[in-house]
Parts: sequence; C-alpha cells; structure tokens
Amino acid sequence: MADLDVAVVGAGFAGIYAVHAFRSAGFTVRAFEAGSGIGGTWFWNRYPGARCDVESKDYSYSFSPELEQDWSWTERYPAQPEVLRYLNHVADRFRLWPDIQLNTRVTAASWDADRSQWTVTTGDGERRTARFLLSAVGCLSAYQVPSVPGLETFAGPWYHTSRWPADGVDFTGRRVGLIGTGSTGIQIAPEIAAVAEQLYVFQRTANFAVPNRNRAIDPDWERAFKTDYRSYRKQAQESFLGVPIAGTGRPALAEPPAEIQRTLMDRWQAGGGMPFLGAYTDVLVDRAANDLVAEFMRDRIRETVADPALGQLLSPRAYPVGAKRLCQSDDYFAMFNQPNVTLVDIRSAPVQSVSPTGLRTADAFYEVDALVFATGFDAISGALRQIDVRGAGGVPLTEKWAAGPRSYLGLAPAGFPNMFIVTGPGSPSVFSNMVLSIEQHVEWIRDCLVHATSHGVSTVEAKPSAEDAWMAHVTEVAYATVFPLADSWYVGANIPGKPRVFTPYLGGVGPYRARCDAVAAAGYEGFALD
Ligand SMILES: Cc1cc2nc3c(=O)[nH]c(=O)nc-3n(C[C@H](O)[C@H](O)[C@H](O)COP(=O)(O)OP(=O)(O)OC[C@H]3O[C@@H](n4cnc5c(N)ncnc54)[C@H](O)[C@@H]3O)c2cc1C
Repeated sequence: MADLDVAVVGAGFAGIYAVHAFRSAGFTVRAFEAGSGIGGTWFWNRYPGARCDVESKDYSYSFSPELEQDWSWTERYPAQPEVLRYLNHVADRFRLWPDIQLNTRVTAASWDADRSQWTVTTGDGERRTARFLLSAVGCLSAYQVPSVPGLETFAGPWYHTSRWPADGVDFTGRRVGLIGTGSTGIQIAPEIAAVAEQLYVFQRTANFAVPNRNRAIDPDWERAFKTDYRSYRKQAQESFLGVPIAGTGRPALAEPPAEIQRTLMDRWQAGGGMPFLGAYTDVLVDRAANDLVAEFMRDRIRETVADPALGQLLSPRAYPVGAKRLCQSDDYFAMFNQPNVTLVDIRSAPVQSVSPTGLRTADAFYEVDALVFATGFDAISGALRQIDVRGAGGVPLTEKWAAGPRSYLGLAPAGFPNMFIVTGPGSPSVFSNMVLSIEQHVEWIRDCLVHATSHGVSTVEAKPSAEDAWMAHVTEVAYATVFPLADSWYVGANIPGKPRVFTPYLGGVGPYRARCDAVAAAGYEGFALD
C-alpha cells in the first residue's frame, strides 16, 4: 500500500489549496516544497515593486465564504508581502502545516505499474509512494538567466528578480543595469530609479503597459461588495478571463473612431489590463482592431515621455497588444523623464559580454555596480521538465514533450497514469485569473479521485486520442487569434531551443470549465479508468 493517497509537488496557491481540498475529501496528502516557506510566486518574487495585476477581490481564494468575508485586502492590487501574508494565513487557518514539507525539492517521480503507484524521490534521497501524483510546480517558477559571456567575472552583485534576497537590496547611490522589460522589469524599474545614482534599462523589446490606478481599498466599498461576493464569484467562474468584465460587446472595427477613443480613455483612466483589452470583442482576434488599440497606447507613451525619440523607442510595434502579457504600471514611462534613467536599445546593438565593471553592447560600454535580470521564466512546462518524471514503460516526460508540452484538458498527460497537473499545458492557465483556474483544477481533480476511489478504480489515465483531439482544439483556437504573432514566453520564444508551441487555452475560462464538467459527467470521457 502506498504511503500517501496524493503526493503534491509545490506549495504555492495550487499546492496549498490541494492540501486542503484533498485532505477535506478524506485523502492522505503531503506537499513537497523546494522553498523554505510556502507561497510559490509570492515567496520567491520579493523584488521591490512586485504586486499582482489582477485585483485582490478576484486574485484570492473563493473556496471558503468565511475566509473571503474575514480577510481584508489593503489595496486594489496588493504587493507581494501582502499576498504572502494571505497565503500564510490560509495555511494557519486551515491547519495545513503538518501536511507541507518545506526545503524539499522533488527530483524524480516514477510510475510503478505493478503497484499502481508513484514513487517520489526528493533531493536528500527520501522516497515516498503515493497513489496519485499532483504537479503544482507553477507555470512561472523555473526562472531564466540568459547566458551572457563573462557574467561570472562581474565584480559587483547580480540578481534575478525571482530569487530576490529576503532582506532586500539597497541600490542607493549605485549604478544599476536592468535587463528585461516585461511585467517584472516594468514593476521594478521605477523602484530602482527612485534611489539609484544611475539606472540603465536594457531594452530588447518595447512593451505595452496600462496604468494600474492602484489605490487603498475603501472600507465602505468593501462592506458593500462583500454582501454579494458569492454571486460575483459565480460570474467570475463563467467569465472569459476568470474576472467579470463589462465589455462593450461590440467590435472596435464597427465603432466610430471618436467613440473608440472615448471608450479606451475611460478604461485607461480606470486602470487595469483586463477591462482595457476586453473593451471590444475583436481586439485579440483581428489585427486591424488590435492596431487601433495599440496606436491609442502608443499615443499615451508619446505624450508621457518628454523626449520624442525616446518615446518612439519605448513604443511597441513588433507585435499585437495583448499577444504578450500586458504589463501594468502607473509610473514606468514617466520614469524615463528622470535624468538618472537611460534607455539602452539592445535590439539594434545587442549585449555582447559582461566584464568585472560593466556590460558591453555592440556599440558601447556601460559601467555598473550591480546587475538585475528581470528575464522571466521557462514558462508553463519548465519546472516540471526539471523533475525526472517517468510514466508508463519508464518513458520520461521530457521525451513525451520533446516537440512541446501537451496534455488532455491541461490536466493529465497521456502515458502518465494517476498524474495530474494544475494549470498544465492546454488549460487557460496564464491566460486567466490564475487563482480561479487553480481552484477549478484542484476541485476537478479531487472529484475525479473521489470518483475513482468510490468505484474501485486504481488507475486513471488520459487516452492519447483524447489528448490529441484536445491539443488540436487548443491550437485551432489559438491560431484564430493574434497571440501566435508574438515572440512571447507563451510560445516558449524566450528559451533558446524550446519548441515553439502555443499551449494556453484561449477558448475562455467559462467554456473551459463547462467542458471539464461535461467530461466528468460523462464518466470521465477521454480517460481510461482501470
Ligand atoms: C511576479 C509575478 C506576478 C504575478 N501576478 C499575477 C497576477 O496578478 N495574476 C495572476 O493570475 N497570476 C499572476 N502571476 C502568476 C502566478 O504564478 C500565479 O498566479 C500563481 O501564483 C501560481 O501558483 P502555483 O501554485 O500554481 O505556482 P507557484 O506559485 O509558482 O508555486 C509553485 C511552487 O512549486 C515549487 N516547486 C517547483 N518545482 C519543485 C520541485 N521540483 N520540488 C518541490 N517544489 C517545487 C516552487 O518552489 C514553488 O513554490 C504572477 C507571477 C509572477 C512571477
């Protein structure tokens, strides 16, 4: 008999809820977490300026009405320390600590067909067996440092934003080089610029950003909002992005230009990326409609940045707005008006090497005291590929995924019995309010395990034909949008040699949930239950 019913890898939003959900359903469960604390994304990403860009009323668990009533967020978009406090509160409140094992990296997991169980091996050689393996390793947790020749010779400190020192870094009076201008780079840059003597922002790709208009939560608003939180959550579950958004319901291309400007400006003033992109129905599927919105955003950059040439350089042109994760910031573009901030275009003059005192590009040398890499993650499949996972017949997951990650419904890879992935490839995952998507996956998997157990089923495995059909659908939906037009981490373009495959499901959170529910109602259609 296996040591555990469920072995969970990771203790971020997904692993934490999995421990609670499986334990409440009567399963024995243990979460193995590499970090010295829980929280995942919110444990590791402690860089200044780190905050979520989905509103706190949405980016929070919905499984406990009491929790959602009792917890009060201080801000519309809470900063990292507050989200981490929240997750620790959840672990305390539901007494999850005994079933979470910190400082434990899972290095291997192999399927034992004779015993119908998984053997999980950890970094210090511990082996535990479990009937089911649940990957909660995160879509954005395998961080990525580009290989720059000479980095090891750099005399000053260098940091990756996803492994930021817990006691912070003081850049006061320092010359700092920042590499990476995605969501994180845009968040950290103004914080560094506020104290550094000089900040060099090395930009390969200009990025779009909408304002946050972050603000403190008004207690009167909170009280009123919480009177109907349940029906709000229901709307979120049925929505497209996992957040209820009131769009116009009309295509931009059918709208008079002045009306488009008015609508977009209203949303720009209100702040937030999802309401902005969701204003019109055709922005993410029609390049001409997308161009209208992109031009509106470029106008905002040009009117903010005093130097016109700099404004041009900061204006994204290489891809449709929304096709890379839309950044949010109230002060990124205005920061370039500060005399201590320099934008360095490394598209035209790429980084060549690092020396002890700085960074050399194709046309200049920049002396710096510290380097910051905001260069993101080997997204969606990276953390799972780092584990030696072997399924039926000893086949490695990396071999199965050689041409790109795939699974049935983003939940279960064929050939890997009794293995499930939270927000895996083929699910809405990073193209949604992830907390809501995580809850939906954990609950679906829990119900599947309850079904299997109560029906005497020892193995649950996605059928290859179901996986093929689902991934074909994921691709078909993606290629009807503007997303594949960008070299983004959504398609793995930021990782040298990674196969270029678009795996987030763009069919919408609500329709996706309905599909998963229908699969369950049909006796787990597409799965072999043995
Ligand atoms: C800076 C930042 C801001 C974000 N903001 C938002 C936002 O506003 N809205 C949104 O929807 N999403 C946001 N995200 C995405 C975010 O990752 C998810 O919302 C969510 O936190 C993911 O939770 P998770 O539990 O699935 O994964 P994670 O939080 O990544 O947790 C995975 C955990 O697994 C552990 N782990 C990995 N491999 C192993 C192993 N082999 N052995 C043991 N443990 C392992 C890791 O240490 C980590 O703690 C953001 C991401 C980042 C990086």
